[in-house]
Amino acid sequence: MYELVLKGKFILNRGIIEGSIGIEDGLIKRISIGSLEGDAVISLDRGQVFLPGLIDTHVHLRDFEEKKKENVESGTKAALHGGITAIFDMPNTTPPVIDSMTFEKRLKLFRRKAYTDYALGFLMKSNCNEAKKAKADFYKAFMGASTGGIYSENFEVDYACSPGVLSIHAEDPKIIQGNPERPPEAEVRAIELGLSAAKKLKKPLNICHVSTHGGIKAILQEDLPWVNFEVTPHHLFLTKKDYEKNPLLKVYPPLREESDRRALWENFSKIPIIASDHAPHTIEDKEKGSAGIPGLETEVALLLDAVNRGLISVFDVVEKMHENPLRVFGIIGRDFEVGNEATFTVVDLRKEWTVKPEEFYTKAKWSPWEGRKLKGKVVMTVLRGRVVMEDDEIVGKPEGVRLNVQRG
Ligand SMILES: [Zn+2]
Repeated sequence: MYELVLKGKFILNRGIIEGSIGIEDGLIKRISIGSLEGDAVISLDRGQVFLPGLIDTHVHLRDFEEKKKENVESGTKAALHGGITAIFDMPNTTPPVIDSMTFEKRLKLFRRKAYTDYALGFLMKSNCNEAKKAKADFYKAFMGASTGGIYSENFEVDYACSPGVLSIHAEDPKIIQGNPERPPEAEVRAIELGLSAAKKLKKPLNICHVSTHGGIKAILQEDLPWVNFEVTPHHLFLTKKDYEKNPLLKVYPPLREESDRRALWENFSKIPIIASDHAPHTIEDKEKGSAGIPGLETEVALLLDAVNRGLISVFDVVEKMHENPLRVFGIIGRDFEVGNEATFTVVDLRKEWTVKPEEFYTKAKWSPWEGRKLKGKVVMTVLRGRVVMEDDEIVGKPEGVRLNVQRG
């Protein structure tokens, strides 16, 4: 008899299996293809599947002096609503997380307010000693300025001293200064610089939101085992044409030509991570030209819809939003195995729904996909054996914990 038994379909070794998962004290005690007895039982319907807890490695939760745009509470509730069980918090906040004291402040805030699990980032900018003191979960460098305006003036030094995985925003500062529309060359040039530093330094590097044909080609050609990269759903599903119709779709790096979008899809199997780059702004700030798109509450559903359209498989979703984030960032104790945490994203592959931003938990009540009908939806999120979101409702208190990141 287990405290809790989850019954239904789940994913094991790239197969969908029908069975039961026995849970005690928030941990997986048994994975069985038979039936298990539990004090409490959650049984899934036919179209539903337990996925291992999905992770978003690129999220801007604002807070501090920008609570109007988003705070840790609203942002992590949005994450649970979208089926995201852990988020990576980006450090280009106001004030930015560029010293160990601000990092401690950020950590305290998450301990009190986070509904999901989390990894916290530290912003690199000629602050090597502080970076070592902070003991963050990952590090971030902007090669050229984005939201917050801070960027690495000495990228290679910052990369060399990052104590853990360095996630980079790759856009060349000189090119974007002269070309505010941020042409593809800005990204390709910065990625080339990043790769040449990576060849020399042989340290873990994660290139964020790759959006161009030239960028993805350069990374795949070098094929350095310690270099990984992310692609966003908006660069997979939208182009420059969409932006021309809707100025709210301004984002850095910008939406690209159809040929770039196609290049991402042609190399889909080689993309290690899909991450939202959830970047909430108030509508007033968007109208003034702020760059960024909210994505936490649509990303998994967009991918499920792509599964239903035959573009990808549900295993791709697990690989790019669970397995590879664990591997790339060195996260311990989260694989779907006996002894690990019972954290799941429950999806209904058959459910059809319409994107309505007014139902979002994020403070950014708009979406590029407003009014879009999607087939496939997150219906439940389970954190350590507790249902924390069911049928669009957040249940319970902020009980997120810091991920156990072992690299660096
Ligand atoms: Zn970002």
